[in-house]
Amino acid sequence: MKLVSVVVPCYNEEEVLPMFYEEIIKVTNGMKAEHSELEFEFLFINDGSKDRTLEIFRELTDRDKRVRYISLSRNFGKESGMYAGLKNAKGDYVVIMDADLQHPPEFIPQMYNYVKDGEYDCATTRRVSRNGESKVRSWFARLFYKIMNKISDTEIVDGAQDFRFMTRQMVDAILEMSEYNRFSKGIFSWVGFRVKYMPYENVERKAGTTSWSFWGLFKYSLEGIMAFSTFPLSLSVFLGILCIIIALIVFVVGIIVTAVNPFKAFGWYVIASTVLTVGGLIMLCLGIMGLYLAKMYLEVKKRPVYIAGETDEDYRNRKKAE
Ligand code: UDP
Ligand code: MG
Repeated sequence: MKLVSVVVPCYNEEEVLPMFYEEIIKVTNGMKAEHSELEFEFLFINDGSKDRTLEIFRELTDRDKRVRYISLSRNFGKESGMYAGLKNAKGDYVVIMDADLQHPPEFIPQMYNYVKDGEYDCATTRRVSRNGESKVRSWFARLFYKIMNKISDTEIVDGAQDFRFMTRQMVDAILEMSEYNRFSKGIFSWVGFRVKYMPYENVERKAGTTSWSFWGLFKYSLEGIMAFSTFPLSLSVFLGILCIIIALIVFVVGIIVTAVNPFKAFGWYVIASTVLTVGGLIMLCLGIMGLYLAKMYLEVKKRPVYIAGETDEDYRNRKKAE
């Protein structure tokens, strides 16, 4: 028997969850009919939702004994939710997907076919279009991937998603990376393994609303750059060298100008602008170092990535006691 864990991080998903459950059951039942060796568990993560998400989890737990859940003690963010899910999944294979049906469950049987014979360790989807997303957002997303891949050794595939079917081996490798500042797109790629990318057209959320603002995405992209590249730190070295070269040129020009016309020596504005430029560059470099230092500070504290509150086990025990 092979157990497949379906891990679903949820934040305020009361509207779409019943729909999601229905779809995933349909697909997994179909898979079971075809591959009798498969068993499933559904592991939902409640990431501090403010709506009825947790109640829906409990209802699902009553209906289906394969449903498990972990309710985090507050909203920790999707990255932490995914980590909690991977950490607690028991399966030989783990599928990680969004609750909003933007990750179509119909892909899972195909994904299993890629992974089951050991040809691949992971199957994932890759968006080839960004339909239904604003132009500005797509443009910035593309820019991010371009910069990221220039300055990082870890390849971040444009359009790659957190919808993945993975072997236990790959999940364990991901769990080894217990860093606090998590950027999954980088982590998935960093661990390596043989990954099958399945192209697909973007679909819109079936219900509810996205919890990502533009600003949120921007901060997340900086997070990604800092987690997987130290290029910004080396930037200060380049800027320093650049300053020295400019200073030398200015010095030589100053000597020539003074030699040609002793009364019309170097303007004070040159000095002023030089001081300002150098001051600005120093602040910039210090700022970049400060950002990394801040990340290191959080990392060194070794805080847990998530804190679990109620789980399905608590709920089941409570019901039994009643
Ligand atoms: N999510 C989460 N914690 C958060 C934000 C989002 O667990 O703080 C979940 C959300 O419930 C969904 C998935 O992450 O299952 C993707 O979120 P969303 O659809 O809002 O993002 P988008 O698809 O717009 O990138
Ligand atoms: Mg979504």
